[in-house]
Amino acid sequence: MVTFVAGMGLLSQGSPLTWEETRKYADHVRKHGILQFLNIYNKVKDRQKDVLKWGDEVEYMLVEMDERNEKARLVLNGSKVLETLQQKGENINPNHPTLWRPEYGSYMIEGTPGQPYGGTMSEFNTVEDNMDKRRREASSVLEKNQTLLTVTSFPRLGCPGFTQPEYKPTPVEKGASKSLFFPDEAINRHPRFSTLTRNIRHRRGEKVVINVPVFKDKSTPCPFVEVFPEDDGEAARGAKPDHIYMDAIGFGMGNCCLQVTFQACSISEARYLYDQLATFCPIVMALSAASPFYRGFVSDIDCRWGVISASVDDRTREERGLEPLKNNKFRIHKSRYDSIDCYLSCCGEKYNDIELTIDEEINKQLLDAGIDKLLAQHIAHLFIRDPISLFQEKIHLDDENESDHFENIQSTNWQTMRFKPPPPNSEIGWRVEFRPMEVQLTDFENSAYVVFIVLLTRVILSYKLDFLLPLSKDVFKGCNPVLDPPASAVNGLESEASDGEEYTLMSIDTIINGKEGVFTGLIPMLNSYLENMEVDVDTRCTILNYLKLIKRRASGELMTMAKWMREYVSHHPQYKQDSVITDKINYDMLQECDLIAKGQKKCPELIGEPLNRGK
Ligand code: ADP
Ligand code: MG
Ligand code: MG
Repeated sequence: MVTFVAGMGLLSQGSPLTWEETRKYADHVRKHGILQFLNIYNKVKDRQKDVLKWGDEVEYMLVEMDERNEKARLVLNGSKVLETLQQKGENINPNHPTLWRPEYGSYMIEGTPGQPYGGTMSEFNTVEDNMDKRRREASSVLEKNQTLLTVTSFPRLGCPGFTQPEYKPTPVEKGASKSLFFPDEAINRHPRFSTLTRNIRHRRGEKVVINVPVFKDKSTPCPFVEVFPEDDGEAARGAKPDHIYMDAIGFGMGNCCLQVTFQACSISEARYLYDQLATFCPIVMALSAASPFYRGFVSDIDCRWGVISASVDDRTREERGLEPLKNNKFRIHKSRYDSIDCYLSCCGEKYNDIELTIDEEINKQLLDAGIDKLLAQHIAHLFIRDPISLFQEKIHLDDENESDHFENIQSTNWQTMRFKPPPPNSEIGWRVEFRPMEVQLTDFENSAYVVFIVLLTRVILSYKLDFLLPLSKDVFKGCNPVLDPPASAVNGLESEASDGEEYTLMSIDTIINGKEGVFTGLIPMLNSYLENMEVDVDTRCTILNYLKLIKRRASGELMTMAKWMREYVSHHPQYKQDSVITDKINYDMLQECDLIAKGQKKCPELIGEPLNRGK
């Protein structure tokens, strides 16, 4: 779940600065970051008619299935696997169909299509093939008892012996995380990742604190309180009763996600799409729910977002409002990893109704340079953050031709949506990234979610739809993990818009599938769009299959992955109704997952019976 400065050759090593050194350059990075943004903006603000291009990103975990001990472990050789994949692929063939990139965990890799997809309908029919190719390609370089899984969070992440090779966490020694549970060896060995980890902890002034409510089953201890013998006091202060306590960035950034990026034809189209899609972030996140288990326990949440948000929360006590401001400039309401705080398009302006912390000086500088109010405040809001990692070699830059300082701040504001200006001197246009989705078990599901979102952008643009609602109505609750209310709980609350109100509470089922007298529904809209498009029979069939999955997930007819995993565990013979996921339960479940992902086993309760391909 980490995106770093693009285009700087991710594998080139450098000399990372400590937090003390980095903070001295914070103003320098911000100042030049803004200059770099202005240079880009002035060069490409009037670019028009860029064509639709888009691409997905899928994150994978490398898992060892130890049959003899009935244990599933995360294999810490992502860098080696990545190197092999790149050597066999992009390094020798610029047109290779897949691209591989490092990720936070040393047991993770990220795969994207070799080239972005274009705007023709038939390309929707190639997405799943490409994902399948990625899975096969990466699987082919693994050892026999290893496999590649697209599970959002590894159920026993942070439990004793969860890695291969096994390492002990080092909470008291010098280390990046100082976690009681997550050894530094599970962090990608590239210094970028350990620096991020260490600097977040140093900036915050203590370890990160993640508390996820535990699912209280029949035999779960009540209250649920854990003791941590190696604790130096931080866990005792941070851990809440009846919660699963976690203390490392790896618990969030070590999860896998699914993202989509689109190129818009112009900056204004990108701003419009950014806003419109923001409304759908919580909805699609809930539809993609796939992470019910943390550190070997059944939790009471279904999505990882709150966990990852807390896992990189580098705000000081002052910034979090626990102490009066003295050494810091701002009271900051959210983690760097959170939902968006302001709309960017003119139709969004009137719905910008939440308090926005901005850097006033930067805002003024942007306004003086001719940037409009909405864009200026968006950037001035991102730039309240400090750079969290900086390399010695990358301090003094050519602001006309480089954008690393801008990207430094931009790419460590991990929001649900990202508005991406073109890199300097490139053919790439203004892009928007949709970031809230949890990764799904199969390529069929991942393709379905991705295609659904891309089609949704086409429909929004073609019919000039407006789905905005006041940002204060966003169901995100900042960085505290929140419980997803089950569809039924929301159903009862549905209301018709009262006079003068433009918005109303609807269930996800209604939003996706429609309900007479309330809302047409997205799927019916997409279907009518498709009816008016020329699409070959095979592609149409594929798309309809994808939409059917989304439709049935929204109606509750099919399970989410989170639900499926909960069911699996609750029916496992070894489960003692105590909220504990043992090694054996974990092993059996992931074994089952692997078979389903490889198409060797059907799973109609999760994915239905797709007609033409779905595995
Ligand atoms: P990130 O900023 O998340 O690292 P990347 O720039 O690496 O994202 O790419 C994310 C996705 O964007 C990939 O799927 C890639 O294929 C796609 N992509 C690449 N170029 C373009 C483009 N010009 N327009 C839209 N998407 C693109
Ligand atoms: Mg990633
Ligand atoms: Mg991304």
